[in-house]
Amino acid sequence: MSTSSVLPSQRLFKLENFGHSIERPVYLYRPTHAEQVEQIFNLATENEVHIALRGAGRSYGDAALASGGIVLDLQRMNRVLDWNPETGVITVEPGVTIERLWRYIMEDGWWSPVMPGTMRPTIGGCLGANVHGKNNWKQGTMGDHVLSFDALLPNGKKVTCTPNRNKQLFHSIISGMGLLGVFTSITMQMKKIYSGNLEVNAWAEPDLRSMLHATDEGREHDYIVGWVDSTARGRGLGRGQMHSARYLEEGEDPYPAMTLNPGNQDLPDTIMGLVPKSLVWRFLKLGINNPGAWAGNSAKYLLNRTLGNHKTYLQSLVAFTFLLDYVPNWEYSYGKQGLIQYQSFLPTDTAEESFEEILRVSQMHGLPSYLGVMKRHKPDDFIFSHAVDGFSLALDFKVRRREKLAQLTDALNQIVLNGNGRFYFAKDSALTPDVVAQFLGDETIARFKQLKAQADPANILQTDLYKRCFG
Ligand SMILES: Cc1cc2nc3c(=O)[nH]c(=O)nc-3n(C[C@H](O)[C@H](O)[C@H](O)COP(=O)(O)OP(=O)(O)OC[C@H]3O[C@@H](n4cnc5c(N)ncnc54)[C@H](O)[C@@H]3O)c2cc1C
Repeated sequence: MSTSSVLPSQRLFKLENFGHSIERPVYLYRPTHAEQVEQIFNLATENEVHIALRGAGRSYGDAALASGGIVLDLQRMNRVLDWNPETGVITVEPGVTIERLWRYIMEDGWWSPVMPGTMRPTIGGCLGANVHGKNNWKQGTMGDHVLSFDALLPNGKKVTCTPNRNKQLFHSIISGMGLLGVFTSITMQMKKIYSGNLEVNAWAEPDLRSMLHATDEGREHDYIVGWVDSTARGRGLGRGQMHSARYLEEGEDPYPAMTLNPGNQDLPDTIMGLVPKSLVWRFLKLGINNPGAWAGNSAKYLLNRTLGNHKTYLQSLVAFTFLLDYVPNWEYSYGKQGLIQYQSFLPTDTAEESFEEILRVSQMHGLPSYLGVMKRHKPDDFIFSHAVDGFSLALDFKVRRREKLAQLTDALNQIVLNGNGRFYFAKDSALTPDVVAQFLGDETIARFKQLKAQADPANILQTDLYKRCFG
């Protein structure tokens, strides 16, 4: 049966990914309660229609899209169900955003131990992908801080999962990219903080080897992240700037009530008090090309090496954590065809060689990345784990000539596989079933298929990413 004969045309929308590189026709449903999710599961099962679960749609690729099928947007299921400021335990519906979370808990002296680099996503979407922060080697993933969750499975069952109860489902619905069931409520442990500020150190490093070394050494801090000039060549290949940060101890901040006030954390509306931030992406657009990116990255590196080198300063938690939110809609600066992100995770012993090759090969293809970010990681027990005991390098690529970009990402996939590396579905636009089979391994794929057959026997949860990556 065709979807158009069973689904009402007033629900037909064109929906994009975060990178604006793809647009798909979908039937959009926005439930406010779990009962409505159940009804939509029944509708899809009876009519053999596919469903993609969607939070805020901040995945870079096609993880939250279902061409011609139903997209179940869960942002309206956004109630905070319980909060205990004594213990830091919070229970939320999946559509609560990261922004709502920190605003809710901060004045009581709490913060989420794991935060992605933007505050726009939902908690459900973050757990679907099992996001990491700039402290992955220390705090693990967001899933590591979940005490329990309730989920509704397409087979009609409602399950409660904890790290010890329904253990396998716990470790598979978290990270399972919305392919096994939908979170309906989530209970998480927050982290105690004594200030709304972090103490931050910034310094420049001249090449990839020293960037990796600094990222590794940075493990003594609470956070470590490197910006990589991915346009630099020769001896400067992989150079960049490091930022490490630590939480302030109790008593270190003389005005904790002030710095923990969410109003004082808000990102400014203007840059240097002059340019409205809402306009900045239009200016950025002028530099989103090879010469512009080279000039911008080089200038940034040289400024960091001179004026910004070895600086220590206090910065608000929000400004440090959600740096990318400083420029609203920055992704539009990549133009009509948008951008993709390519984030690869390499073990310590192969990281240097593989990342050097990745940077070189993308430059040789005439498609250098315009933004590179390096992080330190540790492995975890979740089914679609992306992390390794090693490093990740996230590279943003402008989409211009799609075929050429696909040739490049195919070549990069091979470099990552040769280095025993891993990939991250939340950022992906480039994986194919053979690459996924090699990175996840037969045993994980068999375990996933078995769980999917039980949880979703009619196979209704099928995103575009699932079809692309699992065939
Ligand atoms: C600027 C930027 C910076 C980022 N920085 C980081 C970072 O530092 N670290 C990191 O790990 N990621 C990062 N990301 C990626 C982002 O955090 C993830 O893609 C996250 O999953 C987005 O959440 P969302 O609510 O937008 O979910 P969506 O993108 O809408 O969905 C993500 C996945 O979760 C599933 N899903 C959604 N809701 C539910 C639910 N209720 N139950 C079950 N499954 C569900 C979807 O089917 C999909 O597979 C960044 C993204 C952007 C745009």
